[in-house]
Amino acid sequence: MGKGFLTKGIVNITESMDRDDYILRYGILLEDVLISRDKALKRDKVSFTEDYICNRCGNNKLEKFYASNSKKCWEDLCGVGGMCIFCNKCMDIVEFERTEMS
Ligand SMILES: [Zn+2]
Repeated sequence: MGKGFLTKGIVNITESMDRDDYILRYGILLEDVLISRDKALKRDKVSFTEDYICNRCGNNKLEKFYASNSKKCWEDLCGVGGMCIFCNKCMDIVEFERTEMS
């Protein structure tokens, strides 16, 4: 997926943190999470949780949805999937619980 797919605001946030940081911390890229979120929103699969707090803005009504990375990653054995806790104010990952790996 190219960055042209995402809106400018999201790209700016994406670039504020290095791609490798996301991989090291969560095993998944923000881009993949945003794509998963889009799918989850369309299928009405996004719920809200108050069990976490965003450490950037203090938001404690966070989105919770299943996220996984691209099919290509799964074929290359770097696929991960799990529940993502996501701040829709910062448009960033707060927590990612990896439950599946290829
Ligand atoms: Zn936030």
